Amino acid sequence: MKYDVVIVGAGPAGLSCAEICSKNGLRTLVLERKVILGKKVCAGGITWNGLLRKVEDISQKKFSTQHIFTQLQHATVSEKDPIIATVNRQELGKLMAAKAINCGAEIKLGWQVTKIGNDTITIKNKKQGHCEVLKYSHLVGADGSTSTVRKYLQLPVQRYGVGINYQISGCYDNMEWHLTSKLFRSGYAWIFPHKGTISIGAYADAKVITALELKKNLLIWAKTVGFELEKEKAQAEVINFDYQGSIFSNRYLAGDAAGLASGLTGEGIYPAIISGEYIGNKIINPSHSSIEFDRLIKNHQRHRRAVSIAGKNGAVSTLLSEITCLFLRLKLLNFKAAEMAR
Ligand SMILES: Cc1cc2nc3c(=O)[nH]c(=O)nc-3n(C[C@H](O)[C@H](O)[C@H](O)COP(=O)(O)OP(=O)(O)OC[C@H]3O[C@@H](n4cnc5c(N)ncnc54)[C@H](O)[C@@H]3O)c2cc1C
Repeated sequence: MKYDVVIVGAGPAGLSCAEICSKNGLRTLVLERKVILGKKVCAGGITWNGLLRKVEDISQKKFSTQHIFTQLQHATVSEKDPIIATVNRQELGKLMAAKAINCGAEIKLGWQVTKIGNDTITIKNKKQGHCEVLKYSHLVGADGSTSTVRKYLQLPVQRYGVGINYQISGCYDNMEWHLTSKLFRSGYAWIFPHKGTISIGAYADAKVITALELKKNLLIWAKTVGFELEKEKAQAEVINFDYQGSIFSNRYLAGDAAGLASGLTGEGIYPAIISGEYIGNKIINPSHSSIEFDRLIKNHQRHRRAVSIAGKNGAVSTLLSEITCLFLRLKLLNFKAAEMAR
């Protein structure tokens, strides 16, 4: 079986790419190793700008006020419109898949890509165990932070963060960011309320805090804000922010596979959608250019520089988090300056 475009991974990067390719008449296949679309360790926070620009409003909760805490201060930032909304990743996956399928894309769930060749890939059905070989003209790696396609391209991941999420039942009113540098260095802990559940977690640069330390510190911090997480189920994943390009002849990388999440905040849904669309348009028209993608790369570089400076040592992290909070309080800094969609 030969396809114009084979996309590995049915996350936001793969599905946005599939929609563009199939809409433009290319025979497009998306391969996803999981059987449930959209299942992903994630806090589900998406900036209002990024969400509304790209998908319709499927938000669970919207927040026009953000609470930012440091060791010494508390800033509240309020706007008329929502600043961030929370989404359910399975709902986002379903919506994006329906759009891609409507445009003619085929999505195979429960199939893992196990081997990549010059113009073929081998896929294995995870339930039945049998393999198939498919031919491609273009291959898109949208297969997340531990991308098989990226490994095939021999691009090691040297800069990545670790994110840990607890999705617990309950209700909570505020969306909170805790820049507690003595526990998370340049990273932070969050409380993101959803409908009937709360995402509580932490993100940090893996270069300065190990996953084990991060989990230990997250549990310590959670107690101080009234959450006992010891008996809850933790889920963790790495977040690749080592971007080294996205086009390699007829092979491409998008989203986390390309390393396009923010190294500073771990925000990756919007970069995944933008880069998936960009790759799709590039396949259709190699001279395509995109202001949105160029802006994303600039923001990504800015965040990468910031995380390198802020993570230098504990004193620098503390100083920068306190200055950030003070500037937010004095309205000298716009909260949206940290958005990838700005
Ligand atoms: C704890 C945590 C919290 C986060 N919170 C946020 C947040 O609040 N907001 C935000 O914007 N971002 C957040 N992120 C980041 C965000 O989840 C990712 O950046 C985003 O999902 C990237 O999308 P993607 O499509 O590139 O990859 P993914 O969503 O990871 O999708 C990749 C898909 O590829 C599939 N796959 C992988 N290998 C294969 C293979 N060999 N064969 C077939 N299929 C394969 C996977 O099963 C997966 O479904 C968070 C991440 C973590 C870890």
